[in-house]
Amino acid sequence: MCRILPAVDSLDQHLYHLEHHPEAYRPSFCPHCGVSGVWRHGHYLRKADREGEDGLYLDPAPIPRFYCRRCQATCSRLPSCIAPRRWYPWIVQQAALALLLNGSSLRKVARMSRPGRHTIRRWWRWLEDRFSQYSFHLRSHFPALGRTASQTAFWSACFRRMSLASAMAVLDREGVIIP
Ligand SMILES: [Zn+2]
Repeated sequence: MCRILPAVDSLDQHLYHLEHHPEAYRPSFCPHCGVSGVWRHGHYLRKADREGEDGLYLDPAPIPRFYCRRCQATCSRLPSCIAPRRWYPWIVQQAALALLLNGSSLRKVARMSRPGRHTIRRWWRWLEDRFSQYSFHLRSHFPALGRTASQTAFWSACFRRMSLASAMAVLDREGVIIP
């Protein structure tokens, strides 16, 4: 869907890009009808900073919006550090998932992380549910990820090679719905 602008690793970077290179966010075509040349159309505000210290939160983060003259639909573009439809950024999700992949129990991971046990369990199930689809697309881009049938081995290899945010940006570019 190209909802995600890759390689924007932090909210700081996002705010900098938005001020200095706003054109980078403009999709090359409308995700609804495919025509090129969408217009900038303001922004919406999104809570995205779960990691900031008290008083230093970068929230709310402006997310640029675009308007298609042909189909009159609007679309927006997220920096890759923010996860669509999820409260916590990818980096927090990856940290919890990596601990589970390394064999830590859900209870232990929940003690070490800010998100609660139910949330982390939901992320884990999401990774399991989408394994065949996500691994198919990621392997076609990165053959070095290998052919292992083990989900644990696959995601461990994936996280050694790239961040969860980068992997999701690749899938998004492929038209895969995430998360
Ligand atoms: Zn359109």
